[in-house]
Amino acid sequence: NAKKRGRSRVVVYDDSMESANRERLQLENDLRRAVELDQLLLHYQPQVNARSGEVSGAESLVRWNHPDQGLIPPFKWIPIAEELGLIEDVGEWVLRRACADLVELRASGHSIPKVSVNVSALQFHDEFVDTVRSALADSGLPPDSLEIELTEGIMVSNQESVVSMVQSLKNLGIRLSIDDFGTGYSSLSYLTRFPLDELKIDRSFVLGLAKGKQNAELVRAIIAMAKSLGLEIVVEGVERMEELEFFLAQDVEVIQGFLFSQPVTVTQLRGLLSPHHFRRQLERLNGSASK
Ligand code: C2E
Ligand code: MG
Ligand code: MG
Ligand code: MG
Repeated sequence: NAKKRGRSRVVVYDDSMESANRERLQLENDLRRAVELDQLLLHYQPQVNARSGEVSGAESLVRWNHPDQGLIPPFKWIPIAEELGLIEDVGEWVLRRACADLVELRASGHSIPKVSVNVSALQFHDEFVDTVRSALADSGLPPDSLEIELTEGIMVSNQESVVSMVQSLKNLGIRLSIDDFGTGYSSLSYLTRFPLDELKIDRSFVLGLAKGKQNAELVRAIIAMAKSLGLEIVVEGVERMEELEFFLAQDVEVIQGFLFSQPVTVTQLRGLLSPHHFRRQLERLNGSASK
């Protein structure tokens, strides 16, 4: 049918296809060299205890500082890195950088209990345990200051190898968290099969709160389940005071969201780690909420 619509249309279509392909190829080529050219950087988003204002940790979030395109968010290139088999290099860089940054922060007097690192399912091979062990040893970071965020995609696998790998990770003394809880698979059995410390309630549930009573009941059920399994809870993506109040009413205190801070550079993070920063911010939030 394209013929009927005339030649020029077909040519335009082909051109845009071709340029999309070219862009993609260019991105792939650039990505292959991003690690060695030192173009990756880590941002950190604090996890804040919303009663005390204390920072309980920070999640490391990778960015690619592309020479022409500037900072490219992970959803645009992590899947490509996975396809190209580059995710292990990216992941190892992230792990080492995060451990080193936390050690440096502490050396300069900042107190922060832990750093969390995201792991792709495709990075989750046998060598990963060795990579973590060596990143800890080389940085000198105490194992319980490192938390690995696993996804349901990893945990849902029944493979004995995955179960034993997660146990090996746990045996290193690190903390294990389950990211984006409730967004991937309907199986809940992995929650008891794996030695988890923490469950992160996904932002989609936070967004659901405003959309009806049933969503709130669902979140309450998740919280009750996590608590009865002895899991610590972090809520992701809290942007509004009403959302924070809902979670505080459920005695869920650790919040990671734009209400407190966007992901920031390690230099900016230093400012957020001063003992009073988030306590003052909470006072301001409470002040404006009660007006
Ligand atoms: P995630 O691990 O669930 O990280 C949380 C994401 O939610 C971050 O997006 C963060 O900026 C965003 N977020 C936090 N609070 C709020 C909020 O209040 N409102 C809104 N709208 N968003 C909020 P980011 O940094 O773009 O990362 C997206 C995803 O990319 C991450 O989701 C994670 O799955 C992946 N990712 C990031 N860094 C890495 C990494 O080093 N390795 C791997 N494999 N994946 C990574
Ligand atoms: Mg995460
Ligand atoms: Mg998440
Ligand atoms: Mg997410």
